[in-house]
Amino acid sequence: MKVLGELPSLVVALETDFKAHCLKCKGKRGIRKEVYKPYRDKQVIEKAKCIQCGSVVRSFRKAVFYSKNSYRGRDPRLAGKFDYPKMEFVDLNKLLGKEMARRINRNARYHPLKSVNLAINTLDMAPRDVSSLIILSRSRRSAESRLKIRGATK
Ligand SMILES: [Zn+2]
Repeated sequence: MKVLGELPSLVVALETDFKAHCLKCKGKRGIRKEVYKPYRDKQVIEKAKCIQCGSVVRSFRKAVFYSKNSYRGRDPRLAGKFDYPKMEFVDLNKLLGKEMARRINRNARYHPLKSVNLAINTLDMAPRDVSSLIILSRSRRSAESRLKIRGATK
């Protein structure tokens, strides 16, 4: 399945079967509590827990990264007017050398995907479609949390 979602610094479209190889169970298992960090061009690292035994499992997922620098607002009426273009992924190995690149990658944090959208057919999307989907999910999420708060106070 293809998933579009938001990390703190960028938007990512990735491909996942929601399973990973668990060393302890010695096989493919379902996963939960997935978190991600960008790894390199067209690849994201996923860290998750095995549904069966709870072990940490890591997988590389095919991914395309999009920049959200062109728009920082949250007004859904403006969604169609902003583009999230495909991101030029900087090769840290080339830029800083392997040792430094490894140190930076190790220190990078994992984050859960936010503003998730499962209704995508391809990882390669038009900048306008990416921004529309993400901004739509954000406003849907804030509407849901408003409802929850209202429900709780009754
Ligand atoms: Zn397991």
